[in-house]
This record gives sequence, structure tokens and C-alpha cells, in this order.
Amino acid sequence: MRIPCPLCGPRDRREFYYYGTTDYLDRPSDMDGLDNQLFLRDNPAGLTRDLWYHENGCTSWLIVTRNTVTHAISHAELVMDRDAAPKSITPNPASKPARKTTPKKDASNA
Ligand SMILES: [Zn+2]
Repeated sequence: MRIPCPLCGPRDRREFYYYGTTDYLDRPSDMDGLDNQLFLRDNPAGLTRDLWYHENGCTSWLIVTRNTVTHAISHAELVMDRDAAPKSITPNPASKPARKTTPKKDASNA
């Protein structure tokens, strides 16, 4: 299978890392939505839009439209060209909220 990278041209799929559905670009704000997104995934027979990372190429994130039955790729575009910011798929460790810690009670005093 060859993936048409918008920057590099058609390349072997082994140059890419498959991430999953483009649903990951839109993270849900509540835990139920997140639980559904992580554990109740669709497995469609037909057209899908998936995220691929051109790991051994231009290191760009792509949205690839592919038919899961025929494996034919009909379209590929850069995630950065999408309206939404691609930050949700490449989390910045510095942006994580600080973890709250509570002091541990000493078990010997109980
Ligand atoms: Zn590329």
C-alpha cells in the first residue's frame, strides 16, 4: 500500500505510523465521552478517515481517507491544514495540569 503524502508524494506505508481514527482529533470533554472513544470504537466496512504519522519522512500528521474493504486510498491531507488545531494528537507534557498530592499518613501511628 502506498500513501500519497502531500509533502513527499506517494510513499510505502512502512514509512508511516498508524494512529487511529480522526475521532482522536476531537477529544470529548467528559469522562463518558472519553470512555466511549477509547473502548467503543467503530470498525466500519467502507470509507474511513484515519491519522497517519509520516515517521520516516517529513514527520507530518496526515488524515488519510481509505476504504477498509479495498484498501484504496482516495485522499490524504495534512492535519495542520485542518481547521482544528492538531494539538490534541501531540500532547505537550508541559501543558499537563499539576498533580495534586496528599501527604501520606504514617501507618505506625495508627
Ligand atoms: Zn511526508
